[in-house]
Amino acid sequence: MFDLNKLVRQNILSLAPYSCARNEFSGTASVWLDANESPFNGPYNRYPDPLQKQVKERLSAIKGVDAERIFLGNGSDECIDLMYRVFCQPKVDNVVAIAPSYGMYEVCADINDVEYRKVALNDDYTINVDALLAATDERTKVIWICSPNNPTGNAFPVADIERVIKGFSGIVVVDEAYGEFSSQPSMRFRLNEFPNLLVMQTFSKAWGSAGVRLGMAFASEAIIGLFNKVKYPYNVNMLTQQFALDHLAKLDDIKAWVDTLLSERTRLINSLDALPQVETTFPTDANFVLARVVDADDIYKHLQAQGIIVRNRNKVEKCLGCLRITVGTPEENDAVINGISNYGTEQ
Ligand SMILES: *Cc1c(COP(=O)(O)O)cnc(C)c1O
Repeated sequence: MFDLNKLVRQNILSLAPYSCARNEFSGTASVWLDANESPFNGPYNRYPDPLQKQVKERLSAIKGVDAERIFLGNGSDECIDLMYRVFCQPKVDNVVAIAPSYGMYEVCADINDVEYRKVALNDDYTINVDALLAATDERTKVIWICSPNNPTGNAFPVADIERVIKGFSGIVVVDEAYGEFSSQPSMRFRLNEFPNLLVMQTFSKAWGSAGVRLGMAFASEAIIGLFNKVKYPYNVNMLTQQFALDHLAKLDDIKAWVDTLLSERTRLINSLDALPQVETTFPTDANFVLARVVDADDIYKHLQAQGIIVRNRNKVEKCLGCLRITVGTPEENDAVINGISNYGTEQ
């Protein structure tokens, strides 16, 4: 049922990729005169490793995924864009996604001139697997699932995700940008079972490195090979690769950050639930809370006037009246709780 070569765009299948100097020779040598680099200003004079082998080796041990099944990009955003450029013929192919979900899937579809089909989540934010599969046709190349989902916060049951993967012959992307905050197991351990699965993770959230721009994709060697063929040769710069190696030596710190955020998340939810200005908070497996409030636009402005910025999701489908609040430090969380609690109390 799954035939990768039938999914890939014809021009990408037949593409002869650019072969950079560091691809043609990457062994050891004492005189490097092959890449028109400057001999001065080391180490920055040299082009970086195009396949980021050292970082992938470390990640492979940490994530339990073979290095050949890991792609690194300039944020998850690069992985999202590559899904379109590798698989979707503009004006011909389409993708299907849950809605609401992360905005970049649709923006990248628009940029690549690919039809984006939205399938609404149920009112309780559960996934409608049958509707999702029913929205696909023979030109559907990708189904986007974000779990835990942004902006709703919930993770979807593994059984639902499995049904989507098994019921679809294109690629299913599971975006686990918030996976570290969820008690559900990562789908990256299921790559052997599902050749049509791609899992995305990122350095931007639990790993505290949004400014660095480093995203990961895990998939079959064949899919990762296609990504490597299409990406810019030196898509992850030397500074980022060095940062990643240093950062991956601090996993204990990262674990402590996540633990702090998880306990703060519970405290934030409990505090919000006690406020008359908050109608409901939705269950979350992420580092943010979606809250339905009495007047989202007005409370948003009220918070902003106090220098507190949250995300107003009032105009997003199924999120009417909702604010999305990121879990911060205890002090930041106190500030937002106090800010909401004093709304409507000024005379
Ligand atoms: C924040 C976020 C990302 C991260 O994107 P980067 O480009 O890696 O910073 C990916 N997916 C979702 C759903 C997000 O909310």
